[in-house]
Amino acid sequence: MKRYMIGIDLGGTKIAAALVDDRGRVYHEMTMLTHAEEGLTPVIDRMEVCLQTLLDQADAPVAGIGIGAAGMVDSVHGIVIQASNLNWQAVPLRQLILDRIGRDWVNRVWVDKDTNAAVLGESLYGAGQGCKHLLYVTVGTGIGGGMMLEGHLYHGATQGASDIGHLVLNKSGQLCGCGKRGCLETLASGPAIVRMTLERIAAGEASLQAKLDPQILTARDVVEAAQLGDELGRSVLAEAGEWLGMGLAYYVEINNPERIIIGGGVAAAGELLLGPVRQAIAKWALPANAKAACVVMAGLGAESGVVGAATLGFSVLSLPPPHA
Ligand SMILES: [Zn+2]
Repeated sequence: MKRYMIGIDLGGTKIAAALVDDRGRVYHEMTMLTHAEEGLTPVIDRMEVCLQTLLDQADAPVAGIGIGAAGMVDSVHGIVIQASNLNWQAVPLRQLILDRIGRDWVNRVWVDKDTNAAVLGESLYGAGQGCKHLLYVTVGTGIGGGMMLEGHLYHGATQGASDIGHLVLNKSGQLCGCGKRGCLETLASGPAIVRMTLERIAAGEASLQAKLDPQILTARDVVEAAQLGDELGRSVLAEAGEWLGMGLAYYVEINNPERIIIGGGVAAAGELLLGPVRQAIAKWALPANAKAACVVMAGLGAESGVVGAATLGFSVLSLPPPHA
């Protein structure tokens, strides 16, 4: 019998919510702007509107609610410890949602960080199917990760596992938002790609982007130019990919994953990024470990947020395997 989970992807810009069935298929997706600047209660109000709308539309039982949030999350207690894009600190999100929808839902609301939701979603329905040792990496405004070891999501001692964006790879590098210098995030994220491109244009290199206003240049512009054959764009993506691969080589040596899934906006560069990532892993990890770690693009695309969030619940409820 069909059952749904409601998956909510809570981001700094928008709240995406959907009914997702236990095969990972999305029904009735809806989005609302987050407007976190209005404060906590209006954001919870909007999440409640999404939940009530989707519950009204469900033509089969809704087994639970999974919420993926950007930032640091205590998944055991359902608390968003810190989310800079929402300006939240120590927000008891699960309890706030239960206060709105009622005690019937206790033990059926799950909250985790969005990248942990994404790795679960990819493992059940996307590019990580059949894998027990898996890393998901999102490369966008920041760089974050989620890992599965022995078939289980791994959170670590204080829920800080797989925060690979803050591996220091260049001790005298650029200042990172975390306060350290030379983190992977300062070397391979979207803003890093923009910075490297502008530095090289300022140094006199020719590029398709040189005619663009430097104030509005985005990583997407760099990726699109590279795909049109722009040498500077390709070179910058290759450099970012090399740094990303260096960071991943550390992960490969420690955890020996069988698959590394790259998602996020910068992943749209495809092989222009993934090729250098693979080369760097082959260069800096032991051959047997490097060979085992297959680097692929995310499989869930634009729906990864809501599907991953829904999977937080499905994985706990141990519903039948999706492709039985
Ligand atoms: Zn950092």
